[in-house]
Amino acid sequence: MVKLTRRQAVRKAAGLLFALTPISHALAKTATPAQFVATRIWPAHAYTRITVESSRAVRYQHFTLENPTRLVVDIENAHINQVLQGLSGKVQADDPFIRSIRVGQNTPTTVRLVVDLKQSVNPQVFTLAPVGGFKHRLVIDLYPQGMDPDDPMMALLNANAAASSSGRTKATEQPARISKPTQQSDRGRRKPVVVLDPGHGGEDPGAVSPNGLREKDVVLSVARETKKRLEAFGYTVHMTRNEDVFIPLNVRVAKARTLQADIFVSIHADSFTSPTARGTGVYILNPRGASSAAARFLAQTQNNADAIGGVQVSGNVQVDNAILDMTQTATMRDSRKLAQAVLNELGKLNKLHKGRVDEANFAVLRAPDIPSVLVETAFISNPIEEKLLASEAFRRQCAQAISDGVRKYLGSAVLRR
Ligand SMILES: [Zn+2]
Repeated sequence: MVKLTRRQAVRKAAGLLFALTPISHALAKTATPAQFVATRIWPAHAYTRITVESSRAVRYQHFTLENPTRLVVDIENAHINQVLQGLSGKVQADDPFIRSIRVGQNTPTTVRLVVDLKQSVNPQVFTLAPVGGFKHRLVIDLYPQGMDPDDPMMALLNANAAASSSGRTKATEQPARISKPTQQSDRGRRKPVVVLDPGHGGEDPGAVSPNGLREKDVVLSVARETKKRLEAFGYTVHMTRNEDVFIPLNVRVAKARTLQADIFVSIHADSFTSPTARGTGVYILNPRGASSAAARFLAQTQNNADAIGGVQVSGNVQVDNAILDMTQTATMRDSRKLAQAVLNELGKLNKLHKGRVDEANFAVLRAPDIPSVLVETAFISNPIEEKLLASEAFRRQCAQAISDGVRKYLGSAVLRR
């Protein structure tokens, strides 16, 4: 898939975001049946998502049944096809929530999905209007039961925040080789808390290179490597995601605040319409705008993650409405110091896109009280840097540079909490 085309389309579609289609329900009744064009399942510990993509908006109903526990979704004015039948074969044995899925034509005009469950769930079923390369999507999110039905994502976050990162470290992760714990002579000083934010995930692949390398995979790998190194330095490190799952931008910010992060580092890979654009960059928030047209373009494409990934409702209103105040002025000054420290280290590794810290209005950098930076490791759209991003060696070098920059910053920072 050519990502850049999608991104351009996303910008045009921005006005249609989150249209949860009550209008299209009415239209669907008399329109020609929806044609199913794709199905996907994103199993994750946080929640499992089922996506059914169709040519037209669909009207649906859902309910749960017990003995055995299952979720039934009826899609009206639709006919089963091979694409939809293929959904059953996409269930993975280790899916935390789904045991199996059955698909059938329940009435001449209604298709029924029966999701057999391993545990009781709090289902969130909603539709998303077309955006980027996606057509109409019916989304079925399965959360553990007991979560706030109005905002299960945030409830999950609050319930699991403290345990979410260190406890969920993958068994396959190896201990860092570079570990030389810092001489934290400052006895009594608590461990700094770092939140790492691998961009994108799940339905949202981020930028995709011409060869199919996906930003979401690259940045998760870099973040995991970074976590190992920072822990070896003696810091407490959490990740906003440690699996291939979509997490809305404001939930990432809220998670960092719940965890009382001292710093927040979002990790991405850049892309541009021209394959010649290249170089590493580090960004901080500028709520009033961007320092350049390219930075503005980048922030827009990154902020569109919620539309691509697809979110019904979630988030922390306080973060969305964060007011510029004295705290934020101090936060922005510290963000700049952190960004400069990380940029200095990354500059030893790769050509810099610009020689200075750049600014734009990134939604994910909007915590008013946490110094926050966004690292663009390299351009996935540039053939040379795509090869770098695909290599384990470069990912480890990036992780090392980010970690060294963070350590230099934290070495002289005054922790506020
Ligand atoms: Zn990104």
